[in-house]
Amino acid sequence: MTQPDFSAALPWQLSERARKLTSSAIREILKITERPEVISFAGGLPAPATFPVEQMRVAAERILREDASAALQYSATEGYLPLREWIARRYSSGGAQIRASQVLITTGSQQALDLLGKVLICPGSPVLVETPTYLGALQSFSMYEPRYVQVPTDDDGLIVSALTPELTAGARLLYAQPNFQNPTGRRLPLARRKALAELAQHAAFPVIEDDPYGALDYAGEPLPTMLSMAPERIVHLGSFSKVLAPGLRIGYIIAPEALQFKLVQAKQATDLHTPSFTQRIVHEVVKDGFLDTHVPAIRALYRDQCAAMLAALERYMPAGVSWNRPEGGMFVWVSLPGSIDSMALLEEAVAHNVAFVPGGPFYASEAQASTLRLSFVTVPPAQIDDGVARLAKLIQARL
Ligand code: PMP
Repeated sequence: MTQPDFSAALPWQLSERARKLTSSAIREILKITERPEVISFAGGLPAPATFPVEQMRVAAERILREDASAALQYSATEGYLPLREWIARRYSSGGAQIRASQVLITTGSQQALDLLGKVLICPGSPVLVETPTYLGALQSFSMYEPRYVQVPTDDDGLIVSALTPELTAGARLLYAQPNFQNPTGRRLPLARRKALAELAQHAAFPVIEDDPYGALDYAGEPLPTMLSMAPERIVHLGSFSKVLAPGLRIGYIIAPEALQFKLVQAKQATDLHTPSFTQRIVHEVVKDGFLDTHVPAIRALYRDQCAAMLAALERYMPAGVSWNRPEGGMFVWVSLPGSIDSMALLEEAVAHNVAFVPGGPFYASEAQASTLRLSFVTVPPAQIDDGVARLAKLIQARL
């Protein structure tokens, strides 16, 4: 997919960094798939039907009535204290004690990735990532010019025993998503979480646990976070994007205070602080237990959509195509027979009004071009069936 770059027409010099920037393949595709006739499995967006609009309206009105001067004013870089305290309490229930001073509110967890890149990565620093990994993390870290080291994975996610001293030598961080990984939907089993938390206790680099999908396990039986196993050694990223709404842009980093101090300095230079108003809205909505009823409703919707996707894959896909059966989250990962390039397939698929995200951009290197990511959360079941049937036909024709 070629991406237009108009910078050659600029009469000014760009930084070396800016010259190396490329657009996200996903964003380019999303533009094409905005046509209403396209059945899009491409977006990573939550279903708008889950946005708690009425609760947001009531919270916003109340804040503007009772707390407007603070809600509309500049505020502390660390974030709104009652929200930081609420997050610390929520994470302390698993046994580990998390302090509000460990919590930094960020402008989405995407900003957390950028801040971690800023304070941990030098040009050429080794950075350990899963194979494949979240494209947005690669984009954030790449601004700081690391040398990526891919850690092997299998159907259960990251293979912890592969993290040998040779592989991890000099690493500045390990970036992992234990829950329903974007893009593969995989969940790291308990034994591997324990092994990774144990490794983090002695490692010379932090293990970043990015966890935007943890609450979305369909059975409502979450596995313990690595943060709960090694609270002084794991850097945990959380987000309200998938359990409330992404437009609020509220995420957070839980980290030891000594790292937090540096992250706060970096955030100060970036945006002073996350919006005072939306932080208060989130706190107002969640403080009395709203998520305890809201999250199960999101889980139930996504579980049904996922079941519809898996049933359609089973019904239509030709032999040789394989996929996983996610236990939560928003994504299914599909492997095509090796000769099929999913980027070329996408161009044809879009012409037939169905879209997905090719797997290649999710690899830091040695991309497997025969993989693709399907998101099922925004497409009604009848359209899921129709879209998968169209896709299967195009794949069959290439076999
Ligand atoms: N991490 C992962 C793994 C994601 O999938 C996303 C969003 N797609 C983010 C971080 C960023 O989320 P946000 O900034 O909305 O919190």
